[in-house]
Amino acid sequence: MTIDWSSVEELRSDLISWRRHLHMHPELSFHESKTAAWITEKLRLWGIDVEINVGGHGVVGRLSGHAFNDSNKPSKHIALRADIDALPIQDEKEVYYKSRVPGIMHACGHDGHTATLLTVACWLAKHREAWSGNVTLLFQPAEEVNPGGAKGMIESGCLDGIDCVYGIHLWTPIPVGVVASKEGALLASVDEFSIEIHGRGGHAALPHQTVDSIVVAASLVQAFQTIVSRNIDPLDHAVVTIGSMHAGHTFNVIAERANLHGTVRTFNAETRTYTEQRVREMTKHICEMNGAKADITYYRGYPSVINHKDHVQRVQEKVTKHIKDISWDNAVPVMAGEDFAYYLEKVPGCFIFVGAGNAQIEATFPHHHPKFNIDESALMYAVKVFLSLVIDPS
Ligand SMILES: [Zn+2]
Ligand SMILES: [Zn+2]
Repeated sequence: MTIDWSSVEELRSDLISWRRHLHMHPELSFHESKTAAWITEKLRLWGIDVEINVGGHGVVGRLSGHAFNDSNKPSKHIALRADIDALPIQDEKEVYYKSRVPGIMHACGHDGHTATLLTVACWLAKHREAWSGNVTLLFQPAEEVNPGGAKGMIESGCLDGIDCVYGIHLWTPIPVGVVASKEGALLASVDEFSIEIHGRGGHAALPHQTVDSIVVAASLVQAFQTIVSRNIDPLDHAVVTIGSMHAGHTFNVIAERANLHGTVRTFNAETRTYTEQRVREMTKHICEMNGAKADITYYRGYPSVINHKDHVQRVQEKVTKHIKDISWDNAVPVMAGEDFAYYLEKVPGCFIFVGAGNAQIEATFPHHHPKFNIDESALMYAVKVFLSLVIDPS
């Protein structure tokens, strides 16, 4: 079958204006009440069944197609997901649609994801004769902050009866016109730890009477560098980063306490567990060796995003068949995290990068940068990716 995209193209200006509206009115994770209400109003206007306050500010839309299913297979129930939250970043772009909210900005592209899924919803609702099966639209809050919004939505039953789930991320490291994914691990697990080292403070000139928490902290930071270089299989991947180190107040006092705050990123569960074990072991033994004590708080965040092989193949086949002006690429895994991982732990599916980078219009800043922006022509590609999967469900 072929898809006539002309009726979808008619929604291009709505798509861009919805993205810009969201861009001007960002809301932080777990505070997306106005965004959720705005989405709900549109879905209801188009006659879509809507459930609100799903696991927080989550909005779930459900609709069915009316086309005759001639495939001899039962109709599919597909879930499509968009995250809707913004970040605590001051928008430094000079465009008329820059954020109107001081200190808050859509710097990850979630405004584009939301506008994309709304456009998909609008088209599906107005062309039910063109597709069969069931679609559930997941407008998910709080992707950016642990414990994330996906967990709450899943616990509220948003995946009940779903056969497969797909999500996209607009991605400026990839040029517009390219769509990419890969089977297996695409994004990393995101764990966070903090270590409070208790030494014994004292006079800077009398170190023999103290336990210097700064020296212990420095030893730990050095030791952690050997986890990836000496403990992890060189063919595997892991990151151990200490992002913050605080101790002491002045030059002539040995600090009683020091605090380290860091993150661990891995792709597979065994490496994740082993890395945590090494952080704990090193902390215990190095502190003991120096006569210090430590309290560790180790928080396991999002698991790794593991794409299902059959679905990656399906996405590649449908996208390359139906969208003539895109090219497919095998994605390079990224050590960032995504709570889309939780959906893929429950039902099969795939997370997809949609290229949004374009050097000619300064759409090359990394995600979470104060000048982050996308090439908006990526939005229509994202819409077509989702629609290809719904309209041609074989
Ligand atoms: Zn982000
Ligand atoms: Zn994001």
